[in-house]
Amino acid sequence: MFSGQVALVTGASKGIGAAVAEKLAAQGAFVYVNYHRSAAAAQEVESHIRDAGGQCALVQGSIGDKDQVAEMFKKIRAESKRLDLLVNNAGALHDNYLAMMSDSEWTQVIDTNLTGVFLMTRAAVRMMIARKSGRIVNIASTAGRAGQAGQCNYASAKAGIMAMTRSLALEVSQFNIRVNAVAPGFIETDMVRTMPAEKRAMATSLIPLRRLGKPEEIAEVVSFLLSDAASYIQGQSLVVDGGMIH
Ligand code: NAP
Repeated sequence: MFSGQVALVTGASKGIGAAVAEKLAAQGAFVYVNYHRSAAAAQEVESHIRDAGGQCALVQGSIGDKDQVAEMFKKIRAESKRLDLLVNNAGALHDNYLAMMSDSEWTQVIDTNLTGVFLMTRAAVRMMIARKSGRIVNIASTAGRAGQAGQCNYASAKAGIMAMTRSLALEVSQFNIRVNAVAPGFIETDMVRTMPAEKRAMATSLIPLRRLGKPEEIAEVVSFLLSDAASYIQGQSLVVDGGMIH
C-alpha cells in the first residue's frame, strides 16, 4: 500500500508508535523510527521490522527540541530526499491537579505534546509542499475532547493538536496534503500500565466494549487515514475509544 513511500513515526520505540511503525513497514513504507530515550526498545522495533522483511532506520531526538528536530530532518533530507507520511505520535504525561501543578509539569507537557507536534509538522510540511504531496496523522486523545482530571496540561495540548489538525488542513489542502488526527481512549501501553489497578478497573467499566484498546487497533486506523482509501477525509479527529465518549 505504501511501497516507495517514506514515513516518519515519532515516539516509535514502544506502544502505539511501535505498532504504527511496524504496520507501515509491513505495508511497504520505508519507516524512520524516531525515539528519544529508549534506544534498546527502538532497536527491537528496528529488528522486528527487518525480520518481517520491512525497511527502516532509527532517528534519535526529542520532538520538543528545535535543534534536535532540525538534525533529524537534515538526516532524512540527506538520506531520502522526501517525506510522504508523518505520524506525530510521541507524547508524555506529567499528571497533577491544576492547583498543585508546577510550572515545569505544565511546560514539559506542552513543549513535547503540542510544540513538538508543531516543530515536526512545520519541518515535514515544508518538504511536502515542495513535492505537492503528503499525509499527516496526529495522535491526540479523548482527554482533549472530554477532559480528564489531573491532566489539564495534557488535555490542553491534545485539544490544541485537534485544532492544529483542522487549521493546517485548511492551509495545505491546496498542496495535496491531507492531515487528520486519531483520538484514542485507553490503550494498553506503558502510559496506561502505570495507572493504579483500581483506576484502571474504573476506566474499563466506563468503556462500552469493556476492555482497553490495543496499539495495533490504533495502528489500523492510522494506516487507513494515511492511505488513499481515506482520500476524501481531511482535517478530522477520529475518536477510537471503544465507545467511551459520545
Ligand atoms: P508510551 O508507550 O509511553 O510511548 C511514548 C513514546 O513517546 C515513546 O516512544 C517515547 O520515546 C516517545 N517520546 C516521549 N517524549 C518524546 C520526545 N520528547 N521526543 C520523541 N519521542 C518522545 O505511550 P503510548 O501510550 O504509546 O502513547 C503514544 C501516543 O498516544 C501519545 O501521544 C499519547 O499521548 C497518545 N495516547 C495514548 C493513550 C493510551 O491510553 N495509551 C490514549 C490516548 C492518547 P522514548 O521512550 O524513546 O523516550
